[in-house]
Amino acid sequence: MAIISDNDKSKPKKEKNEDTNSEQIPYDMSFETNIRPKKFEEYTGQSALKSTLKISIEAAKKRELPLDHILFYGPPGLGKTTLASVIANEMETNIKITSAPALERPRDIIGILMSLKAGDILFIDEIHRLNKISEEILYPAMEDFYLDMTTGKTQTLKSIRIPIPKFTLIGATTKAGALSSPLRDRFGIIHRLEFYTEEELTKVIQRTAKIIDTKITEEGAKAIAGRSRGTPRIANRLVKRVRDYAIVKTNGIIDEVTANKALDILQIDKFGLDNTDRSLIEIIAEKYNGGPVGIETLATALGEDVKTIEDVYEPYLVQKGFLQRTPRGRKLTPFACKCFNIKTAENFQQSFDF
Ligand code: ADP
Repeated sequence: MAIISDNDKSKPKKEKNEDTNSEQIPYDMSFETNIRPKKFEEYTGQSALKSTLKISIEAAKKRELPLDHILFYGPPGLGKTTLASVIANEMETNIKITSAPALERPRDIIGILMSLKAGDILFIDEIHRLNKISEEILYPAMEDFYLDMTTGKTQTLKSIRIPIPKFTLIGATTKAGALSSPLRDRFGIIHRLEFYTEEELTKVIQRTAKIIDTKITEEGAKAIAGRSRGTPRIANRLVKRVRDYAIVKTNGIIDEVTANKALDILQIDKFGLDNTDRSLIEIIAEKYNGGPVGIETLATALGEDVKTIEDVYEPYLVQKGFLQRTPRGRKLTPFACKCFNIKTAENFQQSFDF
């Protein structure tokens, strides 16, 4: 079944908007469900985006119409799925959560569209990966709320229009540029999610620590926030790892010293970079003299796939000012050379465009 999460109204209220992922072990699933914000007040940061959405939600409620279709884009872990669930809660409606790779066959998308009720929200993750046929089925559904179907054999082929309830599509993507323009144009609201500030992540961490019943000092939370790559998913993961360290090695309380020791053991540096980030920087510095180097070559040298580099590693390295995307490939910035004391820096420093 293409539906990952189907929030049936008959379920008890506290189960609303839970999504299931067969790869997660039960403990992680309940952790994920518990820490996922349900309302705007619990959803830290993204203030400009939240203000716009609140207005759209209020207007939709007043007009008693579903919200416009919404597209969220930005790196993984910034809260796109969470925000879709928050919107569903605020609209007091159901949400069905799925992702484009699960909608391979036309019947997958038709099935899910036909199962919607008026006002429901359909969330499609990785929407840029939707195939052409599914996209074309989606166009009239988004625009005029009907499905174009054909019946009969070749000579008696008939095209029929099946109306579907008015719904809201929320699409999420890490690559807005990879979306076809007809699909992008059908979203009334398009928003980019930003990396979180250290202050915002400190709040996320304090909230998570409270939910998992762990004492944490403000400095402890700040220490973790500083190494969380501006991403709540990473912040939450680190809180759990640091909590484990605190239980085993200290009195279970996360303070600055404990947090820093645990994060050092996890080999996450003061910039929030892990071993793969550092390898990526080292490879560009040592093998390619600081770049530019093509993304495919870089992926092969690193032993990672291009998509992971583009979606997971690169956005943060670019945002931090360590990496530059140029038409000829990726190259290190002078700032990266300075921060990481890159020995070969002098060899290629002059090739940077200041
Ligand atoms: P995405 O869909 O962008 O990959 P998710 O919505 O799955 O990201 O969020 C990843 C994790 O981060 C979730 O566990 C969620 O609880 C947490 N999270 C995301 N955004 C926020 C936020 N603004 N405030 C608090 N926690 C958040």
